[in-house]
Amino acid sequence: MSISDVLTMGYHFGQARWRWQHLNGERLPAFQATKTRQLIAWVAQHSAFYRQHWQGHNLNDWRNLPAVDKSLMMANFREFNTLQVPAAAAFDLAQQAEQQRDFVPRLGDLTIGLSSGTSGYRGLFLVSAAEQLLWAGTILGRTLHQIKPTKIAFFLRANSNLYQQLGGRLIQFRYFDLTQALVGHIQVLNEYRPTIIVAPPALLLQLLAAAQNGQLSHRPERMISVADALANDEQQQLSNYFDIPIEQIYQATEGLLGISCAHGNLHLQEDIVAVDFEDLGQGRVTPYITDLWRRTQPIIRYRLNDVLRLSSQPCTCGSAFAVIEQIEGRRDDLCYFTCHGQRQAIFPDSLRRAMLLAHSAIQEYQITQTHDDQLTINVMLADFADQVAVGAAVEQQIKLHLADYGCTNCQLSIGFEPIEYGLVNKRRRVIRQ
Ligand SMILES: [Zn+2]
Repeated sequence: MSISDVLTMGYHFGQARWRWQHLNGERLPAFQATKTRQLIAWVAQHSAFYRQHWQGHNLNDWRNLPAVDKSLMMANFREFNTLQVPAAAAFDLAQQAEQQRDFVPRLGDLTIGLSSGTSGYRGLFLVSAAEQLLWAGTILGRTLHQIKPTKIAFFLRANSNLYQQLGGRLIQFRYFDLTQALVGHIQVLNEYRPTIIVAPPALLLQLLAAAQNGQLSHRPERMISVADALANDEQQQLSNYFDIPIEQIYQATEGLLGISCAHGNLHLQEDIVAVDFEDLGQGRVTPYITDLWRRTQPIIRYRLNDVLRLSSQPCTCGSAFAVIEQIEGRRDDLCYFTCHGQRQAIFPDSLRRAMLLAHSAIQEYQITQTHDDQLTINVMLADFADQVAVGAAVEQQIKLHLADYGCTNCQLSIGFEPIEYGLVNKRRRVIRQ
C-alpha cells in the first residue's frame, strides 16, 4: 500500500468519524440529498442502463425513481456499470481466482466481488481501488471505537490483500482461513491473543464450544459477527459466556449497511447508503438501498432480499443513524399458510422462536416449506435425547405459533437427519423452496 493510499484511507477514517458525530437532526437528510443529487446526475451521464431505466422520471425526485434488483442488474451488467465491463469477462476472472484460491481477482484497478448464489444465481460487483480505500477507512473509523494498540483476528472464507496491507504498528491484522481446521486456529488464538475477533456466527459458536471445554483460553475484548445473520439466541449465548456485547457488521457485496456502535446496537450506515423501506407488515421491512459513494457500479434504489426489523427507539450512544433490531433472514424464505381462509406470510423468525421454545435438546434444525400449509422440519438432537418426546414438543410449539395467526391446517413432517451447514455456507434455518 502506497503512502498516498494510506493518507487517503486515513482521510476517510477521519471523515467517517466526523460524520458519525455530526450528521444528526436535519443534517443527515440534507447530506443524503446533496450526495444523491450529485450521484444521480453523474450516473445518468455514465451508465447507459440507468439513463434508459429513468427515462420519463424526474431525476430530482430520486426516492421515486424505479427500483432495480439483482436480476435486472445482471441481465444488463455491461450497461449497468460505468466502465462497460462485460459480465462474462468479470465472471471468468472471479471463478479462475476462486479455483486458484487467489482471492483478489482484479481487472485493471478493479476488484471483482461475487455475491452468494442462494437465490438462484450469483451477483457480480466491481469496486475501484479508490472505492476500496473509502470502504476500508470508513469501516475502520466505525469499528475502532478507541485508538489504541489493537490486534484483530479475521476469520474469512477469502483472504484479501487489503487486510494484510492495512496492518501497522498500532493495529495488527491476522487472517484465519475458514476452510482450515479449527484446532490449529485455536492454538494460534491462544498465543496471538487478539483484542477483537471478527468471524461468521457459525465460527463464533465453535469458539464458544472451545472456550467451554477449555481449549480456548484466550478471552477477546470484542467479538464482531460478519457474513451471515446472527440469531438472537446465538447472540445471547455468546454474550452471556464471554460477558461482552456481540457486535455485528451487516454488509453485502451490494453495500455496507450496518455496523454496531460502542453501545452494541446495529446502526444503518446512513451516510454510506440511503435506505428506503418497503413495509412487509408485522413490523418487518425490506430495504431499498442507494449507495451514496459508489460510481463504478452504481447501486441506486436497489432492492435487497433481506427482511429487517427496525428499532423504534433512538440509540443511547447519541447517533441519529437508525438502529436495526434484527436481521430476520431472506424475503424469499417467507413461508405461507392459510389463516382465517386467507393466504398469509409467516416470517422465518416466528418459526425460529417456536423452535427455540420447543425443547432444550435441539442442537440444530432446518425448516423447509415446499408448498403452502406444509413444513418439513429436520432436527438434530443431543445424543441422550428422546426423539419421540422432542418430535411431539416441536409439533406442539409450531402448531401453537401458527394457531396464533389463525392457521390450523398445517401439515408437519419431522425428521432427525444430521445437518451440516459448514462454516462457509450461509446457515438458513428456514427455507422456502
Ligand atoms: Zn448506538
